[in-house]
Amino acid sequence: MRLPPSAALAHRHARIRESLEALSLDALIVTPPANIRYLSNHAGSAGSLVLTRDAAHLLIDFRYRESVRGLQDSPAACPGLRVWEVPASYEEALLACLTDVGVATVGFEGAHVSVARHEWWRDTIAARGLDIALRSTERIVEQARVIKDASEIDTLREAASRLARVFPAMLRSVRAGETERRIAGVIEATMRDAGYERMAFDTIVASGPHSAMPHYRAGTRVLTAGDLLVLDFGGVLDGYCCDLTRTVSIGSPSREARRVYDAVRDAQQAAVAAVRPGVDSSAVDAAARDVLQERGLGDAFGHGTGHGLGLEVHEEPRVIRRRPDAPSVPLAPGMVFTIEPGAYLPGFGGVRIEDDVLVTDTGCEVLTTVPRELLAL
Ligand code: ZN
Ligand code: ZN
Repeated sequence: MRLPPSAALAHRHARIRESLEALSLDALIVTPPANIRYLSNHAGSAGSLVLTRDAAHLLIDFRYRESVRGLQDSPAACPGLRVWEVPASYEEALLACLTDVGVATVGFEGAHVSVARHEWWRDTIAARGLDIALRSTERIVEQARVIKDASEIDTLREAASRLARVFPAMLRSVRAGETERRIAGVIEATMRDAGYERMAFDTIVASGPHSAMPHYRAGTRVLTAGDLLVLDFGGVLDGYCCDLTRTVSIGSPSREARRVYDAVRDAQQAAVAAVRPGVDSSAVDAAARDVLQERGLGDAFGHGTGHGLGLEVHEEPRVIRRRPDAPSVPLAPGMVFTIEPGAYLPGFGGVRIEDDVLVTDTGCEVLTTVPRELLAL
């Protein structure tokens, strides 16, 4: 597995420490697995990380002892790492760590800590008279993750470009008479064969009327001539996600199916063309929405145009309609996100086309290179 090198982690730590400095915090407790991985390369499902001004304290249990030892002997070692093996309770170990390290003002990630956990911390700190003040913070690590570094871009580019090689193999099983669920199985087996470690989310195979439901999964319906078929799937390669949607026709498409397809493809291409640094993410959404509106399909497009990709399949930035209460999100080089407008006509069917793009200095690089013409299978 390729992992970001130690120097990349050191750079990430420096960025988080700038935020700690600005917020007058001595440390940040990091709890979501994706954020822990981003800062340490440790990819466990359990653990906590305490990033202080000069060290990264990783709390793990016995299950991860060997993998962390191996990591620290590799070029991907986490700089300044101190490992705390948790004997029984992660919460007790965390308080022991904070006390031992001697940090007084400590941030935690408000969006990721349950009320029960926070109450335990607060009550135990008070009951024991510990000199620790906890402060809720917002999106410190998530904000750093929005701009991908060179190692992340390499991995995201590979994860996305590999789809062009595997997509034709998947299509061989797509024909009238097959069920949605069987095609989902073929997609998932093909992804594993191509080296993806797992699927990024539950594969969507939505045929005929089901294709009008944007988040349908895959059921027992049998594909029938004249169906539109939405295939939406993604893989995880070395921890990073790609996400692709293509819509195909079972047999020759009707005039209406082709009209809707062409409108969505034009909307998608208009959105891709709108991507460049400095442009607000909502302008990319508007570019797609305007095309669909012109074609009389404005009401048929009810979701956002895209979402960030990285260690998680849905992360920042969101490419959505501008909300008056939300801050603007200017695009910047190094952001990676999907562009996936669709049109959904209940009872008839739907079309969605999704690609992954990287914002460059002058525009964008489309990372997914699977052809976009309407295939009749
Ligand atoms: Zn998708
Ligand atoms: Zn997506």
